[in-house]
Amino acid sequence: VDYYLNRIAQQAHLNAFLAVYAEEARQEAARIDAKLAAGTAGKLAGMVIGIKDLLCYANHGVHGGSRILNGFVSQFTATAVQRLLDEDAIIIGRQNCDEFGMGSSNENSAYGPVLNARDESRVPGGSSGGSAVAVQADLCFASIGTDTGGSVRQPAAFCGLVGLKPTYARVSRWGLLAYASSFDTIGPITRCVEDAALILEVMAGADEQDSTVSQQPVPAYSEKLEAGGLKKIGYFRDSLESDGVDPSVKAVLRQTIDRLEAEGHTVVPVDFPLAKYYLPTYYILTTAEVSSNLSRYDGVRYGHRSPQAVDLDSLYRLSRTEGLGAEARKRILLGTFVLSANYYDAYYTKAQRVRRLIKEEIEQHFEQVDFLLYPTTPSVAFPLGEKSSDPLKEFLADIFTVQANVTGVPALSLPLGTDSQGMPVGIQILAPAFGEEKLLAFANTLE
Ligand code: GLN
Repeated sequence: VDYYLNRIAQQAHLNAFLAVYAEEARQEAARIDAKLAAGTAGKLAGMVIGIKDLLCYANHGVHGGSRILNGFVSQFTATAVQRLLDEDAIIIGRQNCDEFGMGSSNENSAYGPVLNARDESRVPGGSSGGSAVAVQADLCFASIGTDTGGSVRQPAAFCGLVGLKPTYARVSRWGLLAYASSFDTIGPITRCVEDAALILEVMAGADEQDSTVSQQPVPAYSEKLEAGGLKKIGYFRDSLESDGVDPSVKAVLRQTIDRLEAEGHTVVPVDFPLAKYYLPTYYILTTAEVSSNLSRYDGVRYGHRSPQAVDLDSLYRLSRTEGLGAEARKRILLGTFVLSANYYDAYYTKAQRVRRLIKEEIEQHFEQVDFLLYPTTPSVAFPLGEKSSDPLKEFLADIFTVQANVTGVPALSLPLGTDSQGMPVGIQILAPAFGEEKLLAFANTLE
């Protein structure tokens, strides 16, 4: 704990942590030391973990990277976080992120951007940017992020780490500030696959606080990491051919394919004719859900309340205008539009139907192959400020990550190479729903 607290203080300019629980972490460490001595310590004894600022932890602040929750303190602890604590992990602090998880560069945080520790002029990725940099810069052992459209995998890729997005409903969402509820997942950012497996097995599983979470039993992923024999793997043909993917990223994918073939696996190109609909479907449905989910921040029940308000309408308007950043306001407006009476069928209903088709498309592929393989992102970490001026470009950078959230399947990003300047390149492996056991074992052989 002292080691990490020193590191956090030395690297404060990276802006990865929004709050550090120094005294409490020290006390926890002493309590767990005693348990270790008595032989009663849990599975994660002494593991120092940071949590994204979207996860509730009782009696600690949670701001969702937003001004609107400035000063807000959680009344209860997220199930995923509670399970880490129950296994004697130590929560060291709360990590910076894009406002309510909306973004790909951490530049949408009300608390300032996070710097990529590999090259401080570049973004760390987002929305779990603080969580990724905290592990990258050795400010904690592992982080818990959230992934609605890539927010665990993309920053992990940009920072050279392992990022795991579990199957939708594998981990309870109780105590996670909602962005898009039918897409949101909670997942670990770690240095290696084994740590991700151990953390997932602790966090996952049934929870009576979340009626959508799966009742399926949770395998002991960390004990089942041995290689599972030869596999058939499909790679996204376009990701090697498209001009939108950087040559350095294509080169790492090519090397990975060659290596798999050399090891005896079968690797085949696959096509996704619906790929051009992934981003429109994702951004129509997530903005619809966000406009509904964020309506709770109305200045009445909690969070920022404008002192200027004179009546109920101005209370809503001013509190939200003052409390929410530009990206959140934009997405609420987009979502309100796609849900409005005149456009509901044209956008929302249609996107729901297309979501179904995209799900069928990936399920059909998984009848033929064990895993799918593509880059996590079309480029390495880009310079701060580069995409914030061009929102469409920022949305397009999510092309490879959103499919797993639209369809609910698990996906893991592995650092498998670098570009000529040493910036990490992440390669993503996708598996069928609830296929985490095989996914983690396979990823473990690739590390
Ligand atoms: N960049 C995507 C978005 O802005 C992903 C965010 C996420 O996974 N939370 O919606």
